[in-house]
Amino acid sequence: MKFKKGYLCTYLTIFVVVTGFMFLINIQTTRLLSNDKIYKIVNYSLDGSSDDLHYRLLEEGQRLFKFKTIIPESKLPATLDGNYKIIIHRLAGQWYRVYINDVLIGSLGDIKKGYSNIWNAFGVYDLDQDLLQERNELVIEVYGLYEVGLLGYPVMITDNVTANRLSNWFIILIRNIKLVAIGVLLTAFIILILLIKMSKKIKREYVYYALGAFTIIFMVLDYQVMYRLPVPPILFKKFIISGIYLASFFISIGLYKQFKVQLNLVLGLMVLGSAGYLIIFPGNMVDFKKSYSLLNLLISLNVLGWFYAGALNFKKSLYARVFSICSFVLFVLASCDIYHILMNRGFVISMSIIGVAVFSIGIVFLIIIDYIIMQGQVVYEKKKSRFFYEKSIRDSMTGIYNHHYIVSTLSRMKEPFSLVVLDLDNFKNINDTYGHLAGDEVIKNVAINLQNSIRKYDYVGRYGGDEFVIILMNCSLDELKMMAKKIKRAVEEPVYKYKGNKIRVTASMGIYNATEKEEGEQVIYRADQALYAAKKSGRSGIKMWTKSEFSDERGE
Ligand code: GH3
Ligand code: MG
Repeated sequence: MKFKKGYLCTYLTIFVVVTGFMFLINIQTTRLLSNDKIYKIVNYSLDGSSDDLHYRLLEEGQRLFKFKTIIPESKLPATLDGNYKIIIHRLAGQWYRVYINDVLIGSLGDIKKGYSNIWNAFGVYDLDQDLLQERNELVIEVYGLYEVGLLGYPVMITDNVTANRLSNWFIILIRNIKLVAIGVLLTAFIILILLIKMSKKIKREYVYYALGAFTIIFMVLDYQVMYRLPVPPILFKKFIISGIYLASFFISIGLYKQFKVQLNLVLGLMVLGSAGYLIIFPGNMVDFKKSYSLLNLLISLNVLGWFYAGALNFKKSLYARVFSICSFVLFVLASCDIYHILMNRGFVISMSIIGVAVFSIGIVFLIIIDYIIMQGQVVYEKKKSRFFYEKSIRDSMTGIYNHHYIVSTLSRMKEPFSLVVLDLDNFKNINDTYGHLAGDEVIKNVAINLQNSIRKYDYVGRYGGDEFVIILMNCSLDELKMMAKKIKRAVEEPVYKYKGNKIRVTASMGIYNATEKEEGEQVIYRADQALYAAKKSGRSGIKMWTKSEFSDERGE
């Protein structure tokens, strides 16, 4: 529980840092704009009546607007070289042109067909002193299919230095936030897909979250200034809007699968239906904009639905906690945007984008944590089963293989092998003379010596009591004899020490070279027969099973 709380705190800290950062950016923007070297234009005339170039939605048929204003030269702030720049930031419309005293000084967008997406553009145009008179007429001609007007700050006239400073600030911010958001979303998508691919155990709702992260990238593309769209603006906007709606649908469905709150399913399906309606029905931008402005309420409801599902399960899971917090953050940040649009006030960065980025970071964070915990469990399970398996195949006293494992290995053998059966001589005497514990110590050390005397691909096991079995792989007859002698020396040469006693042992060995595929039982039987012969002929010897008799390998 402590561990989970720690992560929640980390997440809250990230949230506070991100929003704090955003507010600092806005404070700095306000500071930059309150420079007295900036002349802000707020009054225009439009078809004879007064206008402030505010953002407006258009009715069908309205297209071209000419905003005019008079700027007395005396009102302009003094500049070093007498030249000025006009700054137009976030002017909604398909294209616009700027004239001073009937001279065209700048334009933006696709003037021929209106196939552009320039609402998020930052335009800077030169206002040369040669063009200036005592009274100057500034005309901004805007063409819009469904909306026209300023989304942020008023049009400004200022000197080169201030204009450059503002350009730096706005362009870097606008570009970077957009790129960071795309980066975060793409990373979220890729991480989710990789995790889903890497682990079959991962929850299935992550696919929905991955799709959500991917489709919301369409929305961020709307912030990209495109001077010339490859398709008519309505198609482009339908693509953008379907991205937002699909993302909302995927996340609602993912949440429904996770928390089983019916509301998420209903809202998710409603938003999917709306996306279908928006893609198919509205035939012009005005109708389209009207429809989606209304249906966007559904998106807000979906976000509230995520918050609700999270809040309902708040105590139960870390997921629910992070989801409810993320949705709340997204809701608040998106509401900031709506508020600023309604109040027609400038806000340099789209808070919805930040909200979306924070939301995806939250989901990725959760899934990575989940994955790490799951991997930890997998490793633990593997270790545990390995531990129990090892325990089941080893002799508890010596650590070498046990009887059962040796027998099953023999039955599974596919390559030729030889068998050595080794029994310590008169072991009872050792127990009787030095005690049972001394006997144990000798058995343990004999096992170690046996293990050290064989090759790494051979097997050594304790068959029971003081009897050991060694499986030697791919061994010729000569090699077997040589190995048997080496093994015998490894057991007999050392002096076994126990509580000051020096104990020596000898061993009798039966060996058998299975030249072709033979049943394990038969191989053991024959090696055992050879061991029996070795014991019978006076112990501490090596006997080999052959077809006719037991050959003595001691003297060789
Ligand atoms: P032989 O030369 O005929 O093999 O004589 P032996 O005394 O070694 O007799 P055998 O191999 O038939 O019996 C093995 C004895 O080893 C029986 C038991 O007292 C002793 N023994 C078996 N397992 C253990 C053990 O784990 N620890 C100890 N200390 N002694 C054991
Ligand atoms: Mg014995």
